[in-house]
Amino acid sequence: MDPLKALADAERKPYWLDSPARPEPRARLIGNTDADLVVVGGGFSGLWTALMAKERDPSLDVVLLEGRRIGWAATGRNGGFCMATLTHGLANGLERWPEEIGRLERMGVDNLDEIERTLERHGIDCSFERTGELHVATEPWQLDSLSEHLDLISELGLDYVPLDERQVRAEVNSPTYLGGLWERSGCAMLDPARLAWGLRDACLRLGVRVFERSPVRSLSDDGTTITLRTPYGSVGARRVALGTGVFPPLLRRLKHFVVPVYDYALMTEPLSAAQLAEVGWGNRQGVGDSGNQFHYYRLTDDNRILWGGYDAVYYNGGLVKPEYEQRDETFVKLAEHFATTFPQLSGVRFTHRWGGVIDTCSRFSAFYGTAHGGRLAYAVGYTGMGVGATRFGANVMLDLLSGEATERTELRMVKEKPIPFPPEPVRSGVIQFTRWSIAQADQHQGKRNLWLRTLDRMGLGFDS
Ligand SMILES: Cc1cc2nc3c(=O)[nH]c(=O)nc-3n(C[C@H](O)[C@H](O)[C@H](O)COP(=O)(O)OP(=O)(O)OC[C@H]3O[C@@H](n4cnc5c(N)ncnc54)[C@H](O)[C@@H]3O)c2cc1C
Repeated sequence: MDPLKALADAERKPYWLDSPARPEPRARLIGNTDADLVVVGGGFSGLWTALMAKERDPSLDVVLLEGRRIGWAATGRNGGFCMATLTHGLANGLERWPEEIGRLERMGVDNLDEIERTLERHGIDCSFERTGELHVATEPWQLDSLSEHLDLISELGLDYVPLDERQVRAEVNSPTYLGGLWERSGCAMLDPARLAWGLRDACLRLGVRVFERSPVRSLSDDGTTITLRTPYGSVGARRVALGTGVFPPLLRRLKHFVVPVYDYALMTEPLSAAQLAEVGWGNRQGVGDSGNQFHYYRLTDDNRILWGGYDAVYYNGGLVKPEYEQRDETFVKLAEHFATTFPQLSGVRFTHRWGGVIDTCSRFSAFYGTAHGGRLAYAVGYTGMGVGATRFGANVMLDLLSGEATERTELRMVKEKPIPFPPEPVRSGVIQFTRWSIAQADQHQGKRNLWLRTLDRMGLGFDS
């Protein structure tokens, strides 16, 4: 089928949020109250923070304030790849924190194990399947990058299996694949919206007071109490944790470090048994290809294919706007790429198309810190890999707020900040030129131009 026809009936909304399981929103905050800890943001970051604060100390009075609805933003729109990595992949972590990489990888696997145990403990059904991720090469130059760190991978005892062309196509049958690397236990597939709603319910059962449609408009501090004001109320807090992602930050300094990057995805209708048999995919891994502009794709529990990525769009001026959540140019491109990857699925239609905004920072992985004399903590900048890592970041925030040094707070990764982006309008120019250079590299066997090589040397970059 022509990709345009396959897209014709796709609804313009995030598939995961378009579900009868979506709960009614909790009440707004009305009036004034106090709490031991206020968590701002009802995405994964805030939900994990509130849940684990209560698990650490059930007597703590915890309030969670969400400006719109739980999980409506990146948390309810993503690919649902719940990765062990805390560093946006091994290569990025190795480049930045080589002396810590073994520890970071171990802590990442522990974090993913803990997520799995939390789902069991709280009875959260989010179709969690620990099937791993298949990294595939679709151009000869990508084979080199897949085999680059195999020695280190075996030294660290990580569970990766290299696959040649025949083996990778036996896993998932695409004529575009030249080889692959199956990261077997370091990634799980899940339904992100059902995870968010399950975490919300677990928070409520433990006594967290959750308020939705309650945006925090201002934050003031009298030296003992931090007061957060919403349109109809306020909370006075001893401690505050910010899990506000890419949205205008309540702490002004953060705006220099995070830029909004839009990422887009499509969802197909459920495949029939015969269509699925054409592709294989018996081990149900998530798949990512290995260009600088990459696609990510996976099966859902009812055998649809989520197909996303490739374009990572920064809109000049760096604003977050609802109209940016739809981009037909990208949807058509994605549908064409899907048809090239799976020509045997030419009759399959898309049911949903959507976009979401990613909190990108120049080191591609979250950064952490405190303000107001250590009484406020933040974790932002997950750069498209926060489904799993937000739980680690939530633990870092709680450690920092406790004032005690832990293995996490002693990491160089936790102590350091990324390099800030330049102010607008220079920011737009720099980012758009970098995006153009990345696209050029993909078209020329991965060869990076002088600009990208300079950014690489400075430990800077742009990614989704
Ligand atoms: C299309 C797409 C695909 C992705 N795919 C993956 C993937 O497969 N794997 C992966 O690991 N990551 C992926 N990501 C990234 C992942 O979704 C995010 O890293 C993660 O959801 C971040 O969670 P968060 O809680 O920090 O942010 P968000 O989900 O953005 O939540 C922040 C919340 O804070 C609230 N808020 C902000 N300011 C205020 C305020 N002043 N008052 C009250 N509330 C406020 C917002 O309303 C929002 O609900 C993807 C992202 C997108 C957009």
